[in-house]
Amino acid sequence: MDRKQAQARILELRDTLWENSRRYYVDNAPTMSDFDYDHLMRELEDLENEFPDLRTPDSPTQRVGSDLDKGFAQYPHRYPMLSLGNTYNISEIEDFARRAVKELGEEVGFTYSCELKFDGTAICLTYRNGKLFRALTRGDGAVGDDVTANVRMISNIPLSLTGSGWPEEFEIRGEILMPYESFDRLNRERIENEDQPFANPRNAASGSLKLQDPKEVSRRGLMCTLYHIPAQSVSFATHSEALDAALSWGLPVSPERRVVSGIEGIEEYISYWDQHRKFLPFPTDGIVIKINELDFQNALGYTAKSPRWAVAFKFQAEEALTRLVSIDYQVGRTGAVTPVANLSPVQLAGTVVKRATLNNEDFIREMDVRVGDMVKVIKGGEIIPKIIDVDLSKRPSDAVRPVFPTVCPDCGTPLVKEGDEAKWFCPNVDGCPTQIKGKLVHFLGRKAMNVLAGDATVEQMYNLGLVRTPADFYSLDKQKLLMLDGWKDRSAERFLESLAASRSVPFGRVLFALGIRYVGETTAKELARTFGDVDSLAAASLDDLLSVRDVGDVIARSVYEYFRDDHNLKQISRLKEAGLRFTMEEETLPSSEALSGMSIVISGNFSISRDEMKKLIEANGGKNSSSVSGKTSFLLAGTKPGPEKIKKAGDLGIRIVSEEEFMSMIPASPAAEAPSGGDNIVEPTLF
Ligand code: NAD
Repeated sequence: MDRKQAQARILELRDTLWENSRRYYVDNAPTMSDFDYDHLMRELEDLENEFPDLRTPDSPTQRVGSDLDKGFAQYPHRYPMLSLGNTYNISEIEDFARRAVKELGEEVGFTYSCELKFDGTAICLTYRNGKLFRALTRGDGAVGDDVTANVRMISNIPLSLTGSGWPEEFEIRGEILMPYESFDRLNRERIENEDQPFANPRNAASGSLKLQDPKEVSRRGLMCTLYHIPAQSVSFATHSEALDAALSWGLPVSPERRVVSGIEGIEEYISYWDQHRKFLPFPTDGIVIKINELDFQNALGYTAKSPRWAVAFKFQAEEALTRLVSIDYQVGRTGAVTPVANLSPVQLAGTVVKRATLNNEDFIREMDVRVGDMVKVIKGGEIIPKIIDVDLSKRPSDAVRPVFPTVCPDCGTPLVKEGDEAKWFCPNVDGCPTQIKGKLVHFLGRKAMNVLAGDATVEQMYNLGLVRTPADFYSLDKQKLLMLDGWKDRSAERFLESLAASRSVPFGRVLFALGIRYVGETTAKELARTFGDVDSLAAASLDDLLSVRDVGDVIARSVYEYFRDDHNLKQISRLKEAGLRFTMEEETLPSSEALSGMSIVISGNFSISRDEMKKLIEANGGKNSSSVSGKTSFLLAGTKPGPEKIKKAGDLGIRIVSEEEFMSMIPASPAAEAPSGGDNIVEPTLF
């Protein structure tokens, strides 16, 4: 490749890498695999090595990907937080060890600390006088987001140290992780609420750490593991001694680390964890190898992006090979029929996998998968894993080509396909038991009416003929509830209390609870806000619906048709009679003089609409202004604020305030959200 071609390719690679870096670190929604990303990064490094004059300081090879989010206050790191050089190739680990021997000298007899490479998001904790003082994300390496309030919610991070001998102030760094169990629970909830599931536990961990509501963070089941005390912070001879000390102060330090000498020790550690990491309850994506002696670490120093005294060996994404035993065809609450594979149980990414999705009929046909085949399975964002490949060389002679059903496996109604949907649907929306039960469970869900009852309760109620539609819940009385297996006075009373409380659930959530196809939580709120009440929404034309933010053809048509169905209209009128809210309450804004005399500029997205934010400013005595000037009191920055405004505020020395900080400046809003904390599923047999 000549210089001109190299230059063009370098620019192309940088664009692709920055774009994917933003998706990964800021949106927490990567669209490229880590392996492909690392491969492109390596290509860029190689080209920049070949043409060093084309290397610029802003190249992704020279800077860590930034997770900075203007919703948080930011503080500089005392010591830069860097990345790690990484490889998928064991021979490059051997090169690393050889280089270390060459630079430090054979005779010095140094050791390596081998550790798991935890797959979460990096965190830097500062303890001052034995108390957790501040927690910063890696940010852009030089400056991090202050996530202290959220980190305080992570149960294995001590707020106060135990033991003795800790320095008056020191930093310790590590990773915030989401264990597989929490990840599966979170994605299950998100799918139920029609929110996009997280692609993997890493993105779920970093997304959770950046939530604006610390209470919600505490529900996410995050954990922390710490693996580095910057050498300047403490006075130990080795990295492992520093971590042993941290452990004795009550800090969570991984028990899986080992000190080894020589490449054989490293290789043994790698091959052990390559086999055993699938049994760990949290995600890892490789092994980190560090020179253990702090003097030698200092001697080797750093590149612009990573320490020279450490390297990461990355594992390929985990997959498992197992047998496809049979296929079930499951009906969902919207009537969609999904083929689900039953597999010979196999260990994968922390859990035993027994089932995997086969998506739809076209997927089965295109993959030509047959019952009896050996299939390759991976875990993606979905709750149940995916089949990604068939090992044709292992196909048994009696493997059976699956036949997709033509009638609903539950109610026998002939299946239909709508528009260009790949899925088959059971059209018996009001009569198919699985769809009816699914809708009832959805209606009661935490983000919908938030009523204390789970799948098993609804199943019982349905089987006893007590409920067929959501409105039926509101006709239940204690006597009927006591018919349920295991229910006693107290369980019936608690259910009725929570049913009564659901009458004050705001209109947006009631709309979500109705389970209109494609209308998720956010769309429901947006529709409620735009139309104000159910009658105006029901009367809306397709064009009216299309003018709502984030509503496209498919959603608009679905909402339009929902309100053209007599059965649905009857349901709504029964729910109205039961006392549910079908009108937006005029929200009483908290008012005060807290912002009196202040001129405020807002930028970016907030947890409420920008108009609501402006009203909130005015209700508290502030004045909205559209551009940053010397007269601006502060810039209120949400997520994705305008870079111009941020720059101008920076140039003029105007304070940047996050939504969280802003909310703490004014009186609290009368909360209309679902209470967070705890699962609302109460199985009556427990009382
Ligand atoms: P990295 O994740 O490859 O390695 C560095 C990080 O490892 C450290 O910052 C630290 O957080 C973590 N770590 C875990 N265990 C550790 C231990 N025991 N000791 C020290 N550190 C430990 O590097 P990165 O800079 O955070 O991220 C770059 C990687 O992210 C890329 O290599 C790529 O795989 C991935 N990425 C993917 C995409 C995508 O689109 N898929 C985009 C950007 C980045």
